[in-house]
Amino acid sequence: MKWICMYPNGDLYPCGKGCPAEFRMCNINDISSISQAFRTPGFSKILEASVARREKCRNCEIYDYCQGGCAVDAYYQSGAENPGGDSCRIYKAVFTHVKQEVDAIISEKKDLSAFNPMVREAVLRKLVNPMSGGPQERFSGA
Ligand code: SF4
Repeated sequence: MKWICMYPNGDLYPCGKGCPAEFRMCNINDISSISQAFRTPGFSKILEASVARREKCRNCEIYDYCQGGCAVDAYYQSGAENPGGDSCRIYKAVFTHVKQEVDAIISEKKDLSAFNPMVREAVLRKLVNPMSGGPQERFSGA
């Protein structure tokens, strides 16, 4: 969890994406340090649901890219503890396509010199397998 959002009334939520009330952490006026906000029932609820959802996602072929997606999206469509819903379907379609394209680039050892430098960097260092160091060594002159 990397986000915290404060509403105009001082309520803290783990995200600004229309969190349900049950994920409300606390009110800023009721705590003396920000770490207290992360030791609240609301934060525990989204955290536990996210852990449960990610466990169910473990065998997904794009887990390394998606890592269980967005808890709030899941909450409204399939329950925060379950994968599914529109974002899951969209991620699967998009990341599967991107992975196929990147795999083809690697297996064919395509010349990447004409690629936009940012795209080339992403292909070489991140998109193929974000959990490994990247396939730079497989390219000659890349
Ligand atoms: S695409 Fe769906 S099943 Fe796969 S990791 Fe993401 S949320 Fe889980």
